[in-house]
Amino acid sequence: MTEKISARLAAALAAAPADRVVYDLDGIADQYDRLTAELPGVDVRFALKACPVDAVLDRLAERGAGFDAASPAEIVQALATGVPADRVHFGNTVKSDADIAHAHRLGVRTFATDSVQDVTAVARHAPGARVFCRLATSGDGALWGLSRKFGTSPEAAVRVLAGARSLGLVPAGLSVHVGSQQMTGEAWQRAFDLLAGALEELARLGIAPDHVNLGGGLPALGCLDRHGNPLEPPLDKIFAVIREGMEHLTALAPAPLAFVMEPGRHLVADHGAVRAHVSRLTERADADGTVARWLYLSVGKYNGLYEMDQLSHRMVFPGHEDPAGLVPAVVAGPTCDSDDAYGSGRLRVPVPRTLASGDPVWLLSAGAYAPSYTTQGFNGIGPLPCVCVPGPEGEH
Ligand SMILES: *Cc1c(COP(=O)(O)O)cnc(C)c1O
Repeated sequence: MTEKISARLAAALAAAPADRVVYDLDGIADQYDRLTAELPGVDVRFALKACPVDAVLDRLAERGAGFDAASPAEIVQALATGVPADRVHFGNTVKSDADIAHAHRLGVRTFATDSVQDVTAVARHAPGARVFCRLATSGDGALWGLSRKFGTSPEAAVRVLAGARSLGLVPAGLSVHVGSQQMTGEAWQRAFDLLAGALEELARLGIAPDHVNLGGGLPALGCLDRHGNPLEPPLDKIFAVIREGMEHLTALAPAPLAFVMEPGRHLVADHGAVRAHVSRLTERADADGTVARWLYLSVGKYNGLYEMDQLSHRMVFPGHEDPAGLVPAVVAGPTCDSDDAYGSGRLRVPVPRTLASGDPVWLLSAGAYAPSYTTQGFNGIGPLPCVCVPGPEGEH
């Protein structure tokens, strides 16, 4: 199972004396290079909420990435890498007047939007700025749809961008997000159809956006679903649909079109792992008398594995490699919340019968969102430290 991770990551996990998230910076850099090779010409802006760890951001910036930031604090963190402000955009459609003014003071000139109210506020607090309007998608095919809360119809997007122009803003682009961990090429196809329709409508009003932002949604490859089966997203097909879609939009756009993408999960998920430890392996009779084993870990939903209701992780139990000694168990985190368990407590996975309290456990492909989706101290359990290899310890 350890062949799923790099030797660097395995060595760092093996050497870890206590719980932590470990990131393989070279793995992340390679992943970035693979992505830019698959999608030539795409300007990658890392969605930093997926991994707000300075050493990771520095490495991505060094490779050429910009950043998709969702708040003034994220903008500050992105700029600390040394990227110029024009490589950072405010990608959140949800922002207050003060947020807009703060971002503008920090030098950010490109803002996501999806409503007349927001665009009016941008015109007021970031006069002359560039705005791109987010189109709503269904989120179908994704583990997390990101539908409803964001985006607007192509018809309304045209009104928003026309309004932006009349307020002295630059109607600079359109964006989509097909949903996080999107598992289908069809969702991307639908997104390109929406973008094409909106671009044609805009052209009729004499508005020629200079870019399209394709958002995030590219998958992690090494995660398991909530039933414990490999997710196996059709990555090659997804890239093919995206390349074709970009060609199509380029052909129909009235002016040269640049493409931006905001991957989060895809760049970091498979190059980060959680080192946890066994709290206890128990056997317990339920209210109805059914006896089940439960493996309680030191890490769960509230300190690094927030997504455990939708997906699960491959686990490595160092020192317990005997496949004959496996027994099925529900795997759960340490808190007093019953949702703090894989598959909402219904998933049973094989674990070594010999596990003892304190034994280390590695959870693979757990790098996305681990540092950001964590509570400050639910049940007194604080966020995990983040460590990057190669490099000095303790960056976070
Ligand atoms: C979260 C987010 C992303 C990154 O999504 P992934 O599915 O992790 O790639 C990109 N863009 C926006 C606007 C987001 O909110």
